[in-house]
Amino acid sequence: MIGVTVLGSTGSIGISTLDVIARHPNRYRAVALTANRDLEGLYRQCQQFRPDYAVMADLDAAQKLEQRIRDAALPTTVLAGVDGLETVARLPEVDQVMAAIVGAAGLLPVLAAVRAGKRILLANKEALVVSGRLFMDEVERHGAEVLPIDSEHNAVFQCMPAGFQQGLEQVGVRRILLTASGGPFRQTPVEALEQVTPAQACAHPNWDMGRKISVDSATMMNKGLEVIEACWLFHTRPQQVDVVLHPQSVIHSLVEYLDGSVLAQLGNPDMRTPIAHAMAWPQRIESGVESLDLLQVAHLDFAPPSLQRFPCLGLAYEAIEAGGSAPAVLNAANEVAVAAFLEQGLRFTAIPEVIRRTLEVTPRPDGEDLTTLLEIDAEARVRAERITRQLV
Ligand code: NAD
Ligand code: MG
Repeated sequence: MIGVTVLGSTGSIGISTLDVIARHPNRYRAVALTANRDLEGLYRQCQQFRPDYAVMADLDAAQKLEQRIRDAALPTTVLAGVDGLETVARLPEVDQVMAAIVGAAGLLPVLAAVRAGKRILLANKEALVVSGRLFMDEVERHGAEVLPIDSEHNAVFQCMPAGFQQGLEQVGVRRILLTASGGPFRQTPVEALEQVTPAQACAHPNWDMGRKISVDSATMMNKGLEVIEACWLFHTRPQQVDVVLHPQSVIHSLVEYLDGSVLAQLGNPDMRTPIAHAMAWPQRIESGVESLDLLQVAHLDFAPPSLQRFPCLGLAYEAIEAGGSAPAVLNAANEVAVAAFLEQGLRFTAIPEVIRRTLEVTPRPDGEDLTTLLEIDAEARVRAERITRQLV
């Protein structure tokens, strides 16, 4: 039996992960499930999967869950807070950790899993964007294994030759091509973007996802974070990572070789494919995803992304070029701006403005140790909040 901890089990990726686990009861066991404060969601999952542990980041919610678990005589121990998340990320009976918490909040638990040498199923791209070099160094040091869940990086992983960890030149790869749907505003007149609402931004044409990543897809910051993610996962420079708009979301990404060959991975837009791939790798298992009907798809279209329409993509390229902790500042500012767009009436077009200004004013002391990165993340949030207040 393969033991799995699902960090963020009540979210979109978490639910898809549990769907795959439920299809293979003799192969996988959910050892620990976690959520922020979705008490009902986590309780129902405990009833269905009877995990050894359930963790709620929110202390109050954890107490309530504990009472419910006791009343129902379930075999689950309830833990709370970041400590609890870290504990279940490194349990000896856990082989794989699905990192599906949204945002930099997932950093400490995923690092705990890395340091315990687990197979990391990495959906939480923000954790890697914030801690890039440190994360990859720790993976190496502790013999952990990282398998990408993000559909693009999972596609790239599937198209990469063995030994890519030595560097792309050595294995004959010329470049990586990340596909992007362009989100709900691909064709909206640029002048109209100022007025778009959170509901419109969260209505993604192809994927059903959490609200934060949905807004990131609408601004294309999601693709920017993915460019940074690709640089770390595939040991490459931003110049070798290109982005192409592909509105059907059927080709999930491509790898171009020196001889001109281009390999692509295709499939229906359903996250259970990359999840099942990463969980079973190097084997293959059923995921519940329907066969791809190419006749139904009929057309595959491609276009260049416009940096005028999607300034966040340009900001992300600039941050990874700048290196050091610039991506951590970019990510923190983006998290603040997206939350303000969703909850405080910040205009959609002010999101890149908050990020640009935060990058300008946040000091970035040298050092990429964890303490420094967490301090920079916190400082960037304070400054981004101040800038946001001026813009709402
Ligand atoms: P979501 O909002 O649906 O779920 C987030 C999960 O994290 C929930 O279980 C929530 O309870 C938990 N969580 C939130 N804040 C937390 C905190 N402070 N502490 C502890 N737990 C917390 O998000 P999602 O769409 O499932 O995305 C999760 C991650 O996967 C993100 O990093 C996203 O970028 C990445 N991702 C998602 C998709 C997708 O299709 N949804 C695709 C690729 C990558
Ligand atoms: Mg993606």
